[in-house]
Amino acid sequence: MVTALCRDRDVLGVGVGVPGTVEQRTGTLVRAVNLPLRNIPLRDLVAAQFDLDVTLDNDGNCAALGEHRFGAATGTTHSVTLTLGTGVGGGIVADGRLFAGARGTGAELGHIVIERDGRPCQGSCPGHGHLEAYCSGTALGARGREAGLGDAHAVLAKAEQGDAAAVALLDDLGAALGAGLVTLANTLAPEAFVIAGGLGDAASHLILPTAGRILREQALPPNGEARLVPAKLGGDAGMIGAACLVLP
Ligand SMILES: [Zn+2]
Repeated sequence: MVTALCRDRDVLGVGVGVPGTVEQRTGTLVRAVNLPLRNIPLRDLVAAQFDLDVTLDNDGNCAALGEHRFGAATGTTHSVTLTLGTGVGGGIVADGRLFAGARGTGAELGHIVIERDGRPCQGSCPGHGHLEAYCSGTALGARGREAGLGDAHAVLAKAEQGDAAAVALLDDLGAALGAGLVTLANTLAPEAFVIAGGLGDAASHLILPTAGRILREQALPPNGEARLVPAKLGGDAGMIGAACLVLP
């Protein structure tokens, strides 16, 4: 695709979003919680293929940047995006720029603690009680199967039809999301929270009312007044955000 674009357009560079922790200084994919990948020098591997600058970032950061510049958080200066999918990712845009910490390995918002000594986290994450263990599609599927409701898709379909057990599972997921939002609101005080990702897109109308109520009730005023909105870019958020990495 890059080669085809270079034939007839001015290409500034290549932006790459990956589902894992990225160390910006070295361009390394350090680890991916939900994929068997460790210490891959991905920026150099991609750069070896093209005569272009390559910028690498976490897919949650890319989604946050995409939603900030072209999606649901357009017009804000400070926004936080959470992506609910196989795992839970996210990104912080502060003063219009991605915030990723000293080594560029933040912001792993799916791995904030919402319950001390809570459920084991997913994949290779060593933590317990992390947001991802409660709000991912994987977690919803596990709880759905335990309850005899089926996988995450089946739980969603049943909730849409008003099945009380399925609605209760999604309400619980919304409450866990709300707990995470309270922490993030009190820490970062953004203007808007954007809920993205496959599960976020499909279930926003089922989980955001509970999450929003908890955010408003439990965050320190006025931090809980942050807008809580569904994403606008759908599955393209990460790709659009990755392209934004190379834009001025
Ligand atoms: Zn974790």
